[in-house]
Amino acid sequence: MAPIARSRPTVVVVGAGMGGLVSALLLAVQGFSVRLLEKGARSGGKLREVTVGSTGIDSGPTVFTMRWVFEKIFAAAGARFDERLRLTAAEILARHHWQDGSVFDLHADRAQSADAIGELAGAREARGYLDFCQRAEEVFRTLNQSFMENPTPSPIGLARDAGLGGLVALARIKPFTALSKVIDGYFRDPRLRQLFGRYATYCGSSPFEAPGPLMLIAHVEQTGVWLVEGGMIRLAEALENLAAEHGVDLRHGADIAEILVEDGVVAGVRSASGEDIEADAVVFNGDPAALFSGLLGEGVRPAVAPWSPGQRSLSALTWSLKGRAEGFDLSRHTVFFSGDYPREFDDILRKNRLPVDPTIYVCAQDRGASTSTVAPDAEERLFLLVNAPARADDKPLSEAEVASCETRITKRLLRAGLTLLAPPERRIATTPSDFAAMFPGSGGALYGRASHGWAASFQRPGARTPIRGLYLAGGAVHPGPGIPMAALSGCHAAKAVAADFASTATLHAMATPGGTSMRSATTASMR
Ligand SMILES: Cc1cc2nc3c(=O)[nH]c(=O)nc-3n(C[C@H](O)[C@H](O)[C@H](O)COP(=O)(O)OP(=O)(O)OC[C@H]3O[C@@H](n4cnc5c(N)ncnc54)[C@H](O)[C@@H]3O)c2cc1C
Repeated sequence: MAPIARSRPTVVVVGAGMGGLVSALLLAVQGFSVRLLEKGARSGGKLREVTVGSTGIDSGPTVFTMRWVFEKIFAAAGARFDERLRLTAAEILARHHWQDGSVFDLHADRAQSADAIGELAGAREARGYLDFCQRAEEVFRTLNQSFMENPTPSPIGLARDAGLGGLVALARIKPFTALSKVIDGYFRDPRLRQLFGRYATYCGSSPFEAPGPLMLIAHVEQTGVWLVEGGMIRLAEALENLAAEHGVDLRHGADIAEILVEDGVVAGVRSASGEDIEADAVVFNGDPAALFSGLLGEGVRPAVAPWSPGQRSLSALTWSLKGRAEGFDLSRHTVFFSGDYPREFDDILRKNRLPVDPTIYVCAQDRGASTSTVAPDAEERLFLLVNAPARADDKPLSEAEVASCETRITKRLLRAGLTLLAPPERRIATTPSDFAAMFPGSGGALYGRASHGWAASFQRPGARTPIRGLYLAGGAVHPGPGIPMAALSGCHAAKAVAADFASTATLHAMATPGGTSMRSATTASMR
């Protein structure tokens, strides 16, 4: 590959998912020349919109939290988040339905939720809820800086940096106890145990195996679940626009087949069409499993310690549909719970099959922040999701299994009173195999490695890899899955690249006009 003359170090970012967009933007802000190469036709990755008829339906993340992460990222790029996106705070976080017919709304307002829990399950449970909220807030405060915003946390590092008071706080977060067990300490009502245990699935994990600190998600939701005007895809577009303003060169339809390594140092990427693109560093935003599976070439296989298919996080079976919802008063976010939660996870994680009795999430996207009504007979945008096994490569679901699951779901919703009326052409299913094709190497897993066991959070790969010049960003990388977390991983990757270039003192040298072979200068200094 012939070196090219350039005045600034070049970083190629592979993938325009959340982590890729954020790292590309922040690297450009810091003066790098950035090429963002995305194989899909649009940016956003899992944050995606499916078009049904002529209507775009949010068909990835629908719960947007931790807006402060984005406020900081936009501010770092000289922009105001609230000028680029219009957000409204949801008053009802989610409506929940159980098979005994009970319905419960969890509110953003803690006192309102406590009252509603009192009505649902009695005063003791309401007190348990308030204690739970307080502890979830403590856990969040303990881990926000020390874990999530820390690029390289380790159990020893956390304990070392905590000091005596901090050690007490760390012990109180119950890192060694399963989330379900921690929740059992606050609630006796099985419905509430199920409701708060469900937060484990936000990381693609089982509440019976995920660690207690994941209770912090309850607090994160209380600080704000936001509805994005125009749909979640606007967030990806806003980042894409800002990145373009800072000079990021974004190309869609650019499938990268190989990350090139020369003498142990990253040299660039090769596209599936055979084009070589030289780079001083590469940030990989695809699933890290693609690296250890050899999908990006032998040179980068050792970049990540492998995990087995049995250690993958959950996948999903989803439907994006436009139609009428009758007979049940849906909220923006409604959850219809399984009658047997342990069995649901046993089906998915042990038996590798779709659950016999799945929990069903329904996002009614035309329903607003405070009102759940739509005009009578109006067609609305709906997104349905059930958890599914991530074994698309070795144990793919058959069409019959998917169809039978759809029938079970339809019956389950009917029992709750909900009829969904949408002709087949207005109903688009996405299966684990579809996700596996969109996110190579994942087998359909949507959140990387499952957060099972206390150590899992520390086993996620970090931004730096053992291969010089190769960095990682994304929901399968530290600090973990979810839109704000993947964005934070993008921040960590951008910081790591900048720090490594600064420490080699090449950045300024190379930023001088008239530089010649930047690649060789960088390569030499990074060795
Ligand atoms: C159905 C669903 C519901 C979810 N719900 C929520 C929610 O409500 N709230 C929330 O916060 N999070 C939610 N999440 C999780 C959240 O969407 C993800 O954690 C986050 O979007 C992951 O971002 P990422 O940076 O890992 O990039 P990804 O979204 O994984 O995107 C990676 C990008 O890299 C591209 N790519 C991969 N390999 C290559 C290659 N070789 N060449 C070129 N391009 C490549 C892909 O095409 C893709 O665009 C949900 C996810 C799903 C799927």
